[in-house]
Amino acid sequence: MAVDATQPYDDQNIFAKILRGEIPNRTVFEDEWALAFHDINPQAPIHILVIPKGAYVSWDDFSAKGSEAEIAGFIRAVGHVAREQGLVAPGYRLLANAGINSHQEVPHLHVHLFGGKALGPMLM
Ligand code: C5P
Repeated sequence: MAVDATQPYDDQNIFAKILRGEIPNRTVFEDEWALAFHDINPQAPIHILVIPKGAYVSWDDFSAKGSEAEIAGFIRAVGHVAREQGLVAPGYRLLANAGINSHQEVPHLHVHLFGGKALGPMLM
């Protein structure tokens, strides 16, 4: 079900639980700022979610409240994972849903990293 991303951060959301180690995940990268793991329901041969460690609902929430170090660390982590997964030459797609119209399901900021095949044009 789509979430209302204007609501305050809910620390019972599933990615908060993953960050606390309460729910298993297939981690591909972790540092001080971010965790990256395979999406449980992949939509491409490579489908990884990158999430900041901080409690942020969406990109706009993060960009308003996150520190410079958190934002830089998170963006660096996304790029690091794309490089580490060998996606730079073939190419990849980043996508971040926010709120009802985008059908965001988990109210913790996440960037979807898709790759591993020709993805085709974005059709909305
Ligand atoms: O952007 P949106 O909120 O719709 O995407 C949430 C994503 O989180 C889905 O792709 C879903 O498969 C993934 N997910 C996951 N592990 C969970 C719960 C959801 O990878 N335990």
